Amino acid sequence: MTKSIISLEESMSKGREIKGLRLHGHFLEGIGYRRCEVGVRKDAPDKWVVYTSSFIDGKELASWDIVEFPCGTCAVAFRECVVFGDGDAECYTHAQGGFSDGDTYAARVAVLCCFFGLSEADFASLPLVSKSRLFKVAHLLSTGQLTWEKVARAIEAAEQLRSQLSLSWKETIDEFYREVKQIVV
Ligand SMILES: [Zn+2]
Repeated sequence: MTKSIISLEESMSKGREIKGLRLHGHFLEGIGYRRCEVGVRKDAPDKWVVYTSSFIDGKELASWDIVEFPCGTCAVAFRECVVFGDGDAECYTHAQGGFSDGDTYAARVAVLCCFFGLSEADFASLPLVSKSRLFKVAHLLSTGQLTWEKVARAIEAAEQLRSQLSLSWKETIDEFYREVKQIVV
């Protein structure tokens, strides 16, 4: 039930694997192979949790529970929308105009943070400017101006500087945002 946004081993459903991701990340010197998954976990018959986990060289970096649904189909459809874009999927039983854009946006913030390796506590302790940069990037993802593939590339670039220069989270996110702005403009 786990879908990788970035993975060497797994491909996306519907034949829509994100192209190009295999070229990035783990080939950069000093940077492990990074991937981020958005999955659905069944905790009880009526409790389905959409969560995200990130790994570097197979070791877990961070994990966030995003949202709970009483219906598994809703949970899977929500995951599809977070990864592929609003309106990508809906539950045939409960679809009523799909999911709210606010919910998928908030989920993308969580996936983005997790992808970076930020725990919820790490995120909470970030300065406002860093949070606002992550919100802006999630917004760009939500509007389709940015893809997860490009985000992966920008994260890897920032992460490489972080390990070379021992940057703080704030400085790393500044670098990430600078990369993203170059991609989008
Ligand atoms: Zn449903």
